[in-house]
Amino acid sequence: AQERYTSIRDKPAETLCGEVVKLTMNAGLMADLPSLPTSGAEGVGLFRTELQFLVRNKMPKRAELAATYETVLNAAEGKPVVFRTLDIGSDKVLPYMNPLDEPNPALGWRAIRVGLDKPGVMRMQVQALLRAAKGRPLSVMFPMVAQFEEFKQARDIFLREVERERALGHALPESFEIGTMLETPSLAFAPPQFFKMADFISIGGNDLKQFFFAADRENERVRKRYDTLSVSFLNFLETIVARCKEGDTPLSFCGEDAGRPVEALCFAAMGLRALSMRPASIGPVKHRLRRTNLQELRAVIDQARAEGVETVRPAVLEYLRKG
Ligand code: PEP
Ligand code: MG
Repeated sequence: AQERYTSIRDKPAETLCGEVVKLTMNAGLMADLPSLPTSGAEGVGLFRTELQFLVRNKMPKRAELAATYETVLNAAEGKPVVFRTLDIGSDKVLPYMNPLDEPNPALGWRAIRVGLDKPGVMRMQVQALLRAAKGRPLSVMFPMVAQFEEFKQARDIFLREVERERALGHALPESFEIGTMLETPSLAFAPPQFFKMADFISIGGNDLKQFFFAADRENERVRKRYDTLSVSFLNFLETIVARCKEGDTPLSFCGEDAGRPVEALCFAAMGLRALSMRPASIGPVKHRLRRTNLQELRAVIDQARAEGVETVRPAVLEYLRKG
């Protein structure tokens, strides 16, 4: 299937109306890295670091992690890579950590909540990232941040490690960016200072949708009731886009929906200019974007919204069929 898209692999995802959408890939395993050159990805928009923790039967060592992260950066050959700090808990339980007995693990002690309450592992991970990226740019983001204060605390942990490394005389990255995932509705309504402080924001649509609709992402029965192209979800995306614009915060979308061509087109029509997805989706998404006029598509979406529909999907599909 990939061969179909080789002719556009090195071309930009430029729409008929002249907008350029940055397409990056999601990764997490060393086996994903060969897809960087073959998919046409402009970088890694989400590197899920928990996989190195999940595949081992004991806590990985700092040097092992640093070597892994260095391999990733080398494979990227200067293209940007966004490392997400450890996202454990809920569906991702480490075999060497005591499982928690929580009634609602998705709403429980997970991701950055663990990182802030027990910062040892996060600090070790940040040290490994700083060492791996020495002399090169480093981008880091935090999972499941629900409020400004959590972002500030996580950012402080990172900055403290930078100072510690500096004091130890270790070489540092050439530059760094500290961003966050937006996976809880609350973060979209954080104060404007949050948007100013975050170097970038990446929407984790899998979790964001789960919490927006109060529908378990692992439970097909409830998950399928709610369309990503529902008017409520698009209205919410519109708010996030506007708040990021006010704060001058670069915004991307890295949940699974970014790799679905119709959803990707609608996200772009709502103002998203960076999408991160599984490598195999880059070709199909780029192909569709290059044949779409986003202004026209936005008018179709706005018309459907004005009519009071539940989801814009039928109107969008109808428009794409005719086009
Ligand atoms: C998400 O929630 O959309 C996301 C990208 O993170 P994960 O799927 O790893 O939770
Ligand atoms: Mg998530």
